[in-house]
Amino acid sequence: MAEDVTLEDYEYPTDPTWCPGCGDFAILRSVKASLVDLGLAPHESLLVSGIGCGSKLPHYMNVNGYHSIHGRPVPVATGAKLANPDMNVVVTAGDGDSYGIGGNHFLHSCRRNIGITHIVEDNRVYGLTKGQYSPTSHKGFVTKTSPEGSIEPPVRPVPTALTSGATFIARAFSGHVQEMNEIFAAAMNHDGYALVDVLQPCVTFNPGKSYDFYTDLVYDLDEDYDPTDREAAEEKAKEWGNRIPLGIIYREDRPTYEEQVPALQEGPVANRSLDPEERSGVDLEEVKGSFM
Ligand code: SF4
Ligand code: MG
Repeated sequence: MAEDVTLEDYEYPTDPTWCPGCGDFAILRSVKASLVDLGLAPHESLLVSGIGCGSKLPHYMNVNGYHSIHGRPVPVATGAKLANPDMNVVVTAGDGDSYGIGGNHFLHSCRRNIGITHIVEDNRVYGLTKGQYSPTSHKGFVTKTSPEGSIEPPVRPVPTALTSGATFIARAFSGHVQEMNEIFAAAMNHDGYALVDVLQPCVTFNPGKSYDFYTDLVYDLDEDYDPTDREAAEEKAKEWGNRIPLGIIYREDRPTYEEQVPALQEGPVANRSLDPEERSGVDLEEVKGSFM
């Protein structure tokens, strides 16, 4: 932990190519701010992304980054976490990546409780490919791929994560930046899989889901709301529509996947010797000799 880390440590001289007004700007700022709040230096985190507007995020900050393929940032992050559980591993990917193409990885991460933070930039549309309906688009959404309106009911990320066994589930809004910083920091601090679904306007291809649209609907959970109360979380997870709760909806302590992997009991693979004999304790010359 580097106590004196600042936002400047995360600055990178590449300007984002996002449209002016895109919610991704605030998410980028909050990812940096939460890492600073946690006192993590850039080398202590890995950001893994998929394909999409939001998946460009690791390009725009000074941090370890892995720009993977469409729908697969979660498995890449899982591998990285297993190789080095000491690393703070964060996925930043869109709703298409996370709930569509990579939907299976999302479900299995929930039940496995792998120790990664999954920040979903949920603009409820495919933005990079110029505006097709996505897994979280509302029914009736008119797009290039649904000219008569989408006929599919949307994925509901929060209740899906809850019923799939996730141990940390939160919702943020990119228009409420301070609260988003705190939620990201809490998610990264959580031991186990942490989902943060971020309601994020795509001002270009989903203008109906604007800042004003969400501002009228969202509210912060009460201070006395207890996210460890499963029944309360089940009720809160259902809330969607005229009122949308923001904050940590559910939290549970459960052993992480990586803590239970027998092969990792001796410590992170990343810290082990590259010498096969030293690593395995086997005399390879003797093994070779036995075949002669
Ligand atoms: Fe953001 Fe939408 Fe523009 Fe992509 S297309 S950069 S999601 S506003
Ligand atoms: Mg999207």
